[in-house]
Amino acid sequence: MSVCNKCNSIDVVHASEVELNTYKGTEYSINIDYSTCNSCYREFLTKPQIIANEAKVREARKEIDGLLSAEALKAIRKSLNLSQADASIVFGGGQNAFSKYERSEVTQSQAMDKLLRLASSDRYIYRKLLGHSSLAIKSHFISSVEISNLSAHNVENWTNSQFSIPSATHEISKPRLKLVA
Ligand SMILES: [Zn+2]
Repeated sequence: MSVCNKCNSIDVVHASEVELNTYKGTEYSINIDYSTCNSCYREFLTKPQIIANEAKVREARKEIDGLLSAEALKAIRKSLNLSQADASIVFGGGQNAFSKYERSEVTQSQAMDKLLRLASSDRYIYRKLLGHSSLAIKSHFISSVEISNLSAHNVENWTNSQFSIPSATHEISKPRLKLVA
Protein backbone atom coordinates (compact mmCIF):
# COMPACT_ATOMS: atom_id res chain seq x y z
CA MET A 1 0.00 0.00 0.00
CA SER A 2 1.29 3.46 -0.87
CA VAL A 3 1.18 6.52 1.35
CA CYS A 4 1.02 10.07 0.05
CA ASN A 5 4.17 11.89 1.10
CA LYS A 6 2.40 15.23 1.07
CA CYS A 7 -0.75 14.61 3.14
CA ASN A 8 0.04 11.14 4.56
CA SER A 9 -3.22 9.78 3.19
CA ILE A 10 -3.34 6.09 2.42
CA ASP A 11 -6.16 6.65 -0.04
CA VAL A 12 -3.79 6.24 -2.95
CA VAL A 13 -4.73 4.57 -6.20
CA HIS A 14 -2.49 3.17 -8.90
CA ALA A 15 -3.07 4.16 -12.47
CA SER A 16 -1.34 3.93 -15.80
CA GLU A 17 -1.21 6.13 -18.81
CA VAL A 18 0.03 5.57 -22.33
CA GLU A 19 3.08 7.66 -23.01
CA LEU A 20 4.50 8.27 -26.46
CA ASN A 21 8.24 8.61 -26.81
CA THR A 22 10.80 8.70 -29.58
CA TYR A 23 14.06 6.78 -29.66
CA LYS A 24 16.51 7.04 -32.54
CA GLY A 25 13.79 8.52 -34.69
CA THR A 26 11.34 5.72 -33.94
CA GLU A 27 8.17 6.30 -31.95
CA TYR A 28 7.17 3.87 -29.24
CA SER A 29 4.44 3.87 -26.63
CA ILE A 30 4.52 2.37 -23.16
CA ASN A 31 2.11 2.22 -20.24
CA ILE A 32 3.59 4.39 -17.53
CA ASP A 33 2.51 3.43 -14.00
CA TYR A 34 1.90 6.13 -11.40
CA SER A 35 -0.01 6.79 -8.19
CA THR A 36 -2.70 9.35 -7.39
CA CYS A 37 -3.62 10.52 -3.91
CA ASN A 38 -7.41 10.75 -3.59
CA SER A 39 -7.09 13.19 -0.70
CA CYS A 40 -4.86 15.91 -2.13
CA TYR A 41 -4.94 14.81 -5.78
CA ARG A 42 -1.19 14.74 -6.00
CA GLU A 43 0.27 12.42 -8.64
CA PHE A 44 3.52 10.69 -7.83
CA LEU A 45 5.68 7.68 -8.58
CA THR A 46 6.62 5.02 -6.05
CA LYS A 47 10.02 3.37 -6.25
CA PRO A 48 8.62 0.09 -7.67
CA GLN A 49 6.73 2.13 -10.27
CA ILE A 50 9.89 3.97 -11.26
CA ILE A 51 11.74 0.66 -11.64
CA ALA A 52 8.89 -0.86 -13.67
CA ASN A 53 8.63 2.21 -15.91
CA GLU A 54 12.36 2.24 -16.54
CA ALA A 55 12.25 -1.44 -17.45
CA LYS A 56 9.45 -0.78 -19.96
CA VAL A 57 11.46 2.02 -21.58
CA ARG A 58 14.50 -0.24 -21.73
CA GLU A 59 12.51 -3.05 -23.35
CA ALA A 60 10.99 -0.73 -25.94
CA ARG A 61 14.42 0.65 -26.83
CA LYS A 62 15.91 -2.84 -27.06
CA GLU A 63 13.25 -3.77 -29.56
CA ILE A 64 14.13 -0.73 -31.67
CA ASP A 65 17.83 -1.62 -31.40
CA GLY A 66 17.09 -5.18 -32.50
CA LEU A 67 18.29 -6.68 -29.21
CA LEU A 68 16.81 -9.70 -27.48
CA SER A 69 14.04 -8.88 -25.03
CA ALA A 70 14.58 -9.83 -21.39
CA GLU A 71 12.15 -12.69 -21.90
CA ALA A 72 13.86 -13.97 -25.05
CA LEU A 73 17.26 -13.76 -23.38
CA LYS A 74 15.98 -15.78 -20.43
CA ALA A 75 14.48 -18.37 -22.80
CA ILE A 76 17.88 -18.78 -24.49
CA ARG A 77 19.68 -19.18 -21.16
CA LYS A 78 17.16 -21.82 -20.08
CA SER A 79 17.40 -23.65 -23.40
CA LEU A 80 21.17 -23.90 -22.79
CA ASN A 81 20.52 -25.40 -19.35
CA LEU A 82 22.48 -22.71 -17.57
CA SER A 83 21.74 -21.09 -14.23
CA GLN A 84 22.05 -17.30 -14.18
CA ALA A 85 25.36 -17.62 -12.33
CA ASP A 86 26.80 -20.15 -14.78
CA ALA A 87 25.60 -18.10 -17.75
CA SER A 88 27.66 -15.15 -16.56
CA ILE A 89 30.71 -17.42 -16.34
CA VAL A 90 30.19 -18.82 -19.82
CA PHE A 91 29.25 -15.57 -21.54
CA GLY A 92 30.80 -12.94 -19.28
CA GLY A 93 29.08 -9.75 -18.27
CA GLY A 94 30.04 -10.00 -14.61
CA GLN A 95 28.41 -11.55 -11.59
CA ASN A 96 24.61 -11.02 -11.53
CA ALA A 97 24.67 -9.94 -15.17
CA PHE A 98 21.92 -12.33 -16.18
CA SER A 99 19.61 -11.54 -13.28
CA LYS A 100 19.94 -7.87 -14.28
CA TYR A 101 19.32 -8.59 -17.96
CA GLU A 102 16.30 -10.72 -17.15
CA ARG A 103 14.79 -8.10 -14.84
CA SER A 104 15.41 -5.46 -17.52
CA GLU A 105 17.60 -3.62 -15.09
CA VAL A 106 20.51 -3.54 -17.53
CA THR A 107 20.60 -3.81 -21.33
CA GLN A 108 22.97 -6.42 -22.70
CA SER A 109 25.66 -5.19 -25.07
CA GLN A 110 25.45 -5.82 -28.80
CA ALA A 111 28.34 -8.25 -28.39
CA MET A 112 26.59 -10.19 -25.63
CA ASP A 113 23.42 -10.28 -27.69
CA LYS A 114 25.24 -11.72 -30.69
CA LEU A 115 27.10 -14.27 -28.58
CA LEU A 116 23.87 -15.53 -27.02
CA ARG A 117 22.21 -15.87 -30.41
CA LEU A 118 25.25 -17.70 -31.75
CA ALA A 119 25.43 -20.11 -28.81
CA SER A 120 21.73 -20.73 -29.11
CA SER A 121 21.84 -21.51 -32.83
CA ASP A 122 25.20 -23.26 -33.08
CA ARG A 123 25.94 -26.14 -30.74
CA TYR A 124 29.55 -26.32 -31.79
CA ILE A 125 30.15 -22.75 -30.68
CA TYR A 126 28.30 -23.33 -27.44
CA ARG A 127 30.38 -26.44 -26.77
CA LYS A 128 33.57 -24.42 -27.31
CA LEU A 129 32.36 -21.72 -24.94
CA LEU A 130 31.56 -24.32 -22.29
CA GLY A 131 34.99 -25.84 -22.77
CA HIS A 132 36.65 -22.50 -22.14
CA SER A 133 34.53 -21.99 -19.03
CA SER A 134 34.79 -25.49 -17.61
CA LEU A 135 37.34 -24.79 -14.89
CA ALA A 136 35.61 -21.62 -13.77
CA ILE A 137 32.24 -23.34 -13.51
CA LYS A 138 33.82 -26.33 -11.82
CA SER A 139 35.08 -24.12 -9.01
CA HIS A 140 31.48 -23.63 -7.93
CA PHE A 141 31.28 -27.26 -6.98
CA ILE A 142 34.71 -28.68 -6.29
CA SER A 143 37.13 -27.49 -3.66
CA SER A 144 40.42 -26.03 -4.81
CA VAL A 145 42.25 -29.14 -3.55
CA GLU A 146 40.18 -31.37 -5.80
CA ILE A 147 40.71 -29.07 -8.76
CA SER A 148 44.48 -29.17 -8.28
CA ASN A 149 44.29 -32.96 -8.59
CA LEU A 150 42.74 -32.73 -12.02
CA SER A 151 45.25 -33.04 -14.79
CA ALA A 152 44.78 -31.03 -17.95
CA HIS A 153 44.03 -34.31 -19.69
CA ASN A 154 41.18 -35.05 -17.35
CA VAL A 155 39.72 -31.61 -17.76
CA GLU A 156 39.85 -32.02 -21.52
CA ASN A 157 38.07 -35.36 -21.32
CA TRP A 158 35.47 -33.96 -19.01
CA THR A 159 34.82 -31.06 -21.34
CA ASN A 160 34.24 -33.29 -24.30
CA SER A 161 32.42 -36.16 -22.70
CA GLN A 162 30.30 -34.67 -19.95
CA PHE A 163 28.70 -31.94 -21.99
CA SER A 164 26.46 -33.48 -24.56
CA ILE A 165 24.46 -30.64 -25.87
CA PRO A 166 21.65 -30.06 -25.35
CA SER A 167 21.61 -32.05 -22.15
CA ALA A 168 18.31 -32.91 -20.57
CA THR A 169 19.41 -31.98 -17.10
CA HIS A 170 21.81 -29.53 -15.59
CA GLU A 171 23.18 -31.74 -12.85
CA ILE A 172 26.70 -30.70 -13.67
CA SER A 173 28.03 -31.08 -10.16
CA LYS A 174 27.72 -34.85 -10.25
CA PRO A 175 29.74 -35.67 -13.39
CA ARG A 176 32.45 -33.38 -12.14
CA LEU A 177 32.73 -35.13 -8.82
CA LYS A 178 32.83 -38.52 -10.51
CA LEU A 179 35.76 -37.42 -12.58
CA VAL A 180 37.85 -36.67 -9.50
CA ALA A 181 37.54 -40.25 -8.22
ZN1 LIG B 1 -2.05 13.35 -0.61
